[in-house]
Amino acid sequence: MSEHKVETHPPSDEFARNAHADHATYEKMYADSIADPDAFWGEHGKRVDWIKPFSKVKNTDFTYGQVDIKWFEDGTLNVASNCIDRHLKDRADQTAIIWVPDEDDGSDQHISYQQLHAHVCNFANVLKKMGVGRGDRVVIYLPMIPQAAYAMLACARIGAIHSVVFAGFSPDALSQRVNGSKAKVVITADGGPRGGKVTDLKGNTDRAMEKVEHDAKVLVVKRVGDGVRNWVEGRDHWLHEMEDGIGDTCEPEEMGAEDPLFILYTSGSTGQPKGVVHTTGGYLVYASMTHQYTFDYHDGDVYWCTADVGWVTGHSYIVYGPLANGATTVMFEGVPTYPDAGRCWKIVEDHKVAQFYTAPTGIRALMGKGNEFVEKHDLSSLKVLGTVGEPINPEAWNWYNRIVGRGKTPIVDTWWQTETGGHMLTPLPGATTTKPGSATKPFFGVKPVVLEPESGEVLEGGDVEGVLAIADSWPGQMRTVYGDHERFMNTYFQQYKGFYFTEDGCTRDADGDYWITGRVDDVINVSGHRMGTAEVESALVAHDAVSEAAVVGVPHEVKGQGIYCYVSLMAGHEPSEELKQELVGWVRNEIGPIAKPDFIQWAPGLPKTRSGKIMRRILRKVAANEHDQLGDTSTLAEPEVVDDLIENRLNK
Ligand code: ATP
Ligand code: MG
Repeated sequence: MSEHKVETHPPSDEFARNAHADHATYEKMYADSIADPDAFWGEHGKRVDWIKPFSKVKNTDFTYGQVDIKWFEDGTLNVASNCIDRHLKDRADQTAIIWVPDEDDGSDQHISYQQLHAHVCNFANVLKKMGVGRGDRVVIYLPMIPQAAYAMLACARIGAIHSVVFAGFSPDALSQRVNGSKAKVVITADGGPRGGKVTDLKGNTDRAMEKVEHDAKVLVVKRVGDGVRNWVEGRDHWLHEMEDGIGDTCEPEEMGAEDPLFILYTSGSTGQPKGVVHTTGGYLVYASMTHQYTFDYHDGDVYWCTADVGWVTGHSYIVYGPLANGATTVMFEGVPTYPDAGRCWKIVEDHKVAQFYTAPTGIRALMGKGNEFVEKHDLSSLKVLGTVGEPINPEAWNWYNRIVGRGKTPIVDTWWQTETGGHMLTPLPGATTTKPGSATKPFFGVKPVVLEPESGEVLEGGDVEGVLAIADSWPGQMRTVYGDHERFMNTYFQQYKGFYFTEDGCTRDADGDYWITGRVDDVINVSGHRMGTAEVESALVAHDAVSEAAVVGVPHEVKGQGIYCYVSLMAGHEPSEELKQELVGWVRNEIGPIAKPDFIQWAPGLPKTRSGKIMRRILRKVAANEHDQLGDTSTLAEPEVVDDLIENRLNK
């Protein structure tokens, strides 16, 4: 760790007074949740409505070979009626979803809970008419339109299992996911507008269906209305035609707490994506509780998460968490830079957004465009800012805090995974003293441990570094890899017996705050000194000329591993040998001689997953001169950037 003084930002007294949890409340609730999980979750499990109440709370086993996770196992409920029907008594006319389309043309829609009920029942009846029932799988390949939420909730209502596939994915990635789950229906749209361009989703689906080996139907939402090029009679159906006269009542299915709710693939940053399975009861309890406490959500707030529903963040924090809490949730079809880099701030101003939740990649991109885009908007409605997806560099954290939050809006840096269902390490805005770059403290019920990577020994106390594992189950935990319980056990429970292994590295400081250092694979060992690549990246990004950086280890004869840096420059800065030397000296000064970069390659772009995470495994291969073995690149956003990096690699 670098020796720099870390800034601290305690919550203001005023915020703490009005928050769901101040510091003392957090401490008490956290201690209770660890001391007696059955009592704690038995109580908080009641935050959702059960058809048949549970009598058992926790029944979980992390033993390798027999891993089995059950929460609230004898209770029954329906997720859609928790997200809709139970709110109709008090808030039928309240807006459930504010939909903001790609074009900034004033056609934003407000969908009330009453309207949401009708849409979801309609949709559910269509699925039933197409032969979908309890336990059947449905693939959703839609842009960010309200029908994506209707489709998810319609599946939940009739007990079908959805598998959402991000609309930016290729026909190949789609066909793999349709085949993988033997889905009965694939839901798509005639087109997906994003950043002023339209993706031909129906065309992609047609191509994907050529590789689908079983009988599956296609349901098409009319979003664009320009017609479709190809139509397969008997297979393809328009949603609006199917909905005609179908009726907007549909009894919710009574589901067991452990019945699967959805399948969702991980981002594929470290390898082939894993088909994560989440179930009904524990997931909903955990998503709704984290949404309320992490964002300090209060009735009347307008809440906005910029993620796509194709990621777990969109599942837990656009749809299920907020709607279970009766919130108003914003769904945005477009991108932060269209029509210009002020789009997000305009939406915040237009809809008086109170909680804004985004990813570091977005923050860094907007930071590079200049402050004027932020400053021309009235952001006084903001109460909490959130970040998720990657470690956030202190530089980006400070910009978010000072420019977007005017120094007054708490930032919650939420560490979690597709696998965890909801937040695991996060500040609570009225309770936690934050530090730029730290995900701080565990959420209720979460028992993080730092393990010595080789021996697996639990490291106690402060100022320790190792791999992050979780010592006991929490309700939002994934239950299995779809169709492959072996892979589930081997990935998460084999290496460190008795623990859930996160595949991430971390440090815990003297205050007990956690700092994620990146993937375990991204920890490099230079002459026996272990170091997270995130630390070197943060040092680089702190230099005025650097907009983004990715750092990987490279085999080195003397040091074991050397440091290879890919650097993108801010607009107005040109690559030069002088600048390279300056950056080498800069990192040396910021961290120490051990962190001195061996290679700095100028990178016009970095390879990222569709969810905006840097794919360091590809950069490692390029740095090691093994670019003929790149592995699974199906979730890569812009494959072209890799060609440039290969051509200009330095370690030939
Ligand atoms: P795959 O598992 O297929 O390699 P992935 O890990 O990127 O892909 P996700 O579940 O989308 O799939 O991402 C979870 C990971 O994202 C975490 O394990 C962690 O590495 C990173 N991450 C998420 N939030 C944070 C955060 N706040 N700080 C640091 N890292 C984060
Ligand atoms: Mg992962």
